[in-house]
Amino acid sequence: MKRIGAHVSSAGGVENAPLNAAAIGAKAFALFTKNQRQWHAPPLTIPQVEAFQRHLAAGGYRPCDVLPHDGYLINLGHPEPAAWEKSLAAFIEELQRCEMLGLPLLNFHPGSHLRLISEESCLDRIGDGLNRALAVTHGVTVVIENTAGQGSNLGYRLEQIAGLIQRVEDKSRVGVCLDTCHAFTSGYELRTAEGYDRFFADFERMVGLHYLKGMHLNDAKPDLGSHVDRHESIGKGKLGVELFRRIVNDPRLEEMPLILETIDATLWPAEIQLLYGMIEQDAL
Ligand SMILES: [Zn+2]
Ligand SMILES: [Zn+2]
Repeated sequence: MKRIGAHVSSAGGVENAPLNAAAIGAKAFALFTKNQRQWHAPPLTIPQVEAFQRHLAAGGYRPCDVLPHDGYLINLGHPEPAAWEKSLAAFIEELQRCEMLGLPLLNFHPGSHLRLISEESCLDRIGDGLNRALAVTHGVTVVIENTAGQGSNLGYRLEQIAGLIQRVEDKSRVGVCLDTCHAFTSGYELRTAEGYDRFFADFERMVGLHYLKGMHLNDAKPDLGSHVDRHESIGKGKLGVELFRRIVNDPRLEEMPLILETIDATLWPAEIQLLYGMIEQDAL
């Protein structure tokens, strides 16, 4: 089945996220396991973890239906050693929080060169960080999100994602999350059947579909190739609904979190219903 949901709030504690997801009819969800705009967070407590797992089971979610997202301050490609170490420490902490919660995935943005180093040496730094982080943690797969390529963010070309996977020693613990808004604004035409087929064929050839662990379903405010990261509600942006109809009917995208990060949370129940409603029965 398709596992469609949204990036729900964990205000008041991570244990609330599965409740928030169930309340909107989500069959998968994303969350931040700490405040995404701060470096430090109090450690998770045992009662919190137990409540999280209880709520997860009550909502009918498996751990693999959850796609945690790391904090916004982390930059594993940071050109300056002290700042890179700080990011790495925070990233390891994010992995440990997932481990504690029993969640097997952590979605992250690759990193930014800040126009101080080349793209290749930035990818090297990210690769080093991932290898260091994977060596000291267990059971969590790092999931690279493709980006819009805004500013100096890397991960906006499939070649860069493939290059990162190449740099990771333990290939069993690296994956990819495709964000539709980011792919489109970074220059991939996804509005047509031909564009969609070409994109996934390129992904299979350059990256490999077995690395795909989830998707972010977002319409886009800006244009194709604008390199601007602005999400829009489904059907209200430049992408339109046909892309999402293809996604929900694509047998390659079964049983992975398909997560809305659209801008109006009050529309999520309707967007989830819309997406499930577009599934053609004979496609299953
Ligand atoms: Zn993201
Ligand atoms: Zn995203």
